Amino acid sequence: MYDYILLSTLNDFVFCPYSIYLHNVYMGGDEELVHAVPQTRGKAAHKTIDQKNYSSKKDEISSLAVFCDELGIAGKIDVYKRNKKLLVERKYQLNTIYQGQIYQLWGQYFCMMEMGYEIEELAFYAIVTNKTFPVAVPNEENKKELAGFIQEFKEFNPETKITINENKCTHCIYCNLCDKTEVTNVYS
Ligand code: SF4
Repeated sequence: MYDYILLSTLNDFVFCPYSIYLHNVYMGGDEELVHAVPQTRGKAAHKTIDQKNYSSKKDEISSLAVFCDELGIAGKIDVYKRNKKLLVERKYQLNTIYQGQIYQLWGQYFCMMEMGYEIEELAFYAIVTNKTFPVAVPNEENKKELAGFIQEFKEFNPETKITINENKCTHCIYCNLCDKTEVTNVYS
């Protein structure tokens, strides 16, 4: 069986490799107790899509599971607007677009292209502000960059000493469960 790497895991890896360990430790518990406010809101934002009732428009596909054999990745898209050939990732709130989020959207793009969909535009959409943030369609160089990052993920040694960035920790949903830092997150 082919082992796909989840796009959400790659995003977590960019943020902090240790957060993947914490996610796997706590994801089996009560999600509502673990998720801090932003993630709960984020999940709510995706709920309508996950229930496939975001749009009844025939030219929109939502919550589609996607795979890319070439890169060995899998995930789920938010919304694909067929008439515009546009792929959109919705976020509850978006002040900064991080590299991990870009990799996630690139990954969705390569999955869908391999599956035969046509995509000419990519964008993030912030629900709170009702703003759209266009993202350039990845080129071959970007694809190599993503493939290199996936390789880095595969070769990661969990015993590697991680660099603690307290600014990240204060915005990490696992902060209060993490034994690597004493800071508390901003959601407490
Ligand atoms: S609290 Fe800090 S060290 Fe711990 S998982 Fe989050 S970002 Fe990583």
